[in-house]
Amino acid sequence: MADPITRRGLLYVLSSPSGAGKSTIARKLLASDPELTLSVSATTRPIRAGEVDGSHYHFKTDAEFDAMIEDGAFLEWAHVFTNRYGTLKAEVDRTLAAGRDVLLDIDWQGTQQLKQVDPDIVRVFILPPSMAELERRLRGRGTDSDEVIAGRMERAAAEISHWAEYDYVLVNDDAESCAAKAQAILEAERLRRARRTGLVDFVRTLIG
Ligand code: 5GP
Repeated sequence: MADPITRRGLLYVLSSPSGAGKSTIARKLLASDPELTLSVSATTRPIRAGEVDGSHYHFKTDAEFDAMIEDGAFLEWAHVFTNRYGTLKAEVDRTLAAGRDVLLDIDWQGTQQLKQVDPDIVRVFILPPSMAELERRLRGRGTDSDEVIAGRMERAAAEISHWAEYDYVLVNDDAESCAAKAQAILEAERLRRARRTGLVDFVRTLIG
């Protein structure tokens, strides 16, 4: 049941190396939690088979991305691999204004920037159970060449090296239980006293 006490919406950041199962966890969280909305980022990366513009990402040209930076459209943006990715301020504002929480699937660079803009974010890092398993999962996708896989493994090690900058760290050896833990973190963070702006009024109804 939803919390009856008014509270501030929260920014829930999920980071992990590519292939650690972050998208699956994010999907499970979104499916099981009606108060959570995904922030759809903008990117200059080419669209992959099966992706939908505006749903997985807002796909942009380099020139469009430049113009968006110029316009101050991003809460944060970063180079990841050879492309640029950014969180749209409008996406986040719209969700928070609707009284919902925002799920952000962004890398460590974006997380650092976001922390500067809003210190109240919740940061969760997802680790793979092993590097061998990570490589197996990356290969299983069948979408990338050997060269791309090697690059992603290198990037994965670099991404993992930022694990200690996160509030929570989960090992994804089982998507179901990892998603349940991610949900438990979200529930607990929602109940933090400082976020529950309606508590003062509620307690007043109890003890005046
Ligand atoms: P992919 O191209 O596989 O969808 O994503 C590559 C990486 O970019 C992922 O680690 C993802 O978390 C990161 N990413 C996606 N959107 C954003 C964003 O808006 N900002 C930042 N900093 N990273 C992002």
